[in-house]
Amino acid sequence: MEIKIQKTAAPKQKPTDENNLGFGKIFTDHMFVMDYDPESGWHDARIVPYGDISLSPACAVFHYGAEIFEGLKAYRRADGGVQLFRPDANIERMNNSAERLCLPQLDPEFTLKALETYVELEQDWVPHTPGASLYLRPFLIGTDPFLGLHTIQKATFMIIASPSGNYYAEGLNPVKIMIEDEDVRAVRGGTGYAKCGGNYAASNRAGAKAEAKGFSQVLWLDGVERKYVEEVGSMNVMFKIDGEVVTPVLLGSVLPGVTRRSCIQLMKDWGMKVTERLISVEELFTAAKEGRLEEAWGTGTAAVISPIGMLSFKGESFVINDNKIGPTAQKLYDELTDIQWGRKDDPYNWIVKIDRK
Ligand SMILES: *Cc1c(COP(=O)(O)O)cnc(C)c1O
Repeated sequence: MEIKIQKTAAPKQKPTDENNLGFGKIFTDHMFVMDYDPESGWHDARIVPYGDISLSPACAVFHYGAEIFEGLKAYRRADGGVQLFRPDANIERMNNSAERLCLPQLDPEFTLKALETYVELEQDWVPHTPGASLYLRPFLIGTDPFLGLHTIQKATFMIIASPSGNYYAEGLNPVKIMIEDEDVRAVRGGTGYAKCGGNYAASNRAGAKAEAKGFSQVLWLDGVERKYVEEVGSMNVMFKIDGEVVTPVLLGSVLPGVTRRSCIQLMKDWGMKVTERLISVEELFTAAKEGRLEEAWGTGTAAVISPIGMLSFKGESFVINDNKIGPTAQKLYDELTDIQWGRKDDPYNWIVKIDRK
């Protein structure tokens, strides 16, 4: 399929202060759009000026949560070039999310070409400031314009992009986390492994409660026994206990993070012991009390690594690693960001370079 490009006649002023970009507030000049219906499949792939879209108020996305999304970044190398990190993994996950929500599958090769074509067009929007990047947000919505419950027939896939600032403008400061014991994010058999907007809508209440109590995020427990830890906010979570790194096993309720997957690979290649298994709160508290919980951190595209300095559960709290970033979290952060920004060779073939044409 050909991608039609309609360039904007009125390019926007690019942000001059790259130290105050924030996250997801500024958008580039263009967006990628393509439509789906069962007769034509995906069609009308186009890059058009960024702007509001028009949809029937009866669309499935508004009433029944027919929405999935992805998040990845375009990074500026020191030589001026631009590159993506494991976009194939995001596309693969988007298809797994689509399958769960009965939204149409994307052609992985074409979707990668769409991302590349779009980022190439928008490459001047990729920030030059260290740590800042162009955040890419592909998303897919069900657009059938009727209220009857049905499997989705019509859909739209879009990519928008937002120059975003360094998550750690003030350094990698550990965060305070509250273990949530009322709301749950996901259950096995549900949509936990899918990156869908509905999961976020259902997480907001606990997030707001934690914030009101002075915490940055919640640590989610499993939805059945309320015993095993699953994720931290919208990040995967890892703990180092007695020298071994443990992370919740993927059983359907945990989102399979690209950063998580990359961290596991790196640590294994460094000769570290990494185990994916169930981890109970009780085990964490016991390990903390006995001084065996050495480090804890979250992993995700936005922050890369987010060290956890304190965990609190039903009023009881403990501090981890003296509220400082630990050596494993720091090493993972350095290695991943070095590969992402092209400061180090990529022995894994994770990087996709976008060449200026
Ligand atoms: C996106 C996301 C993550 C992190 O995934 P990455 O691919 O590493 O960015 C973790 N948990 C949830 C719930 C997410 O939505």
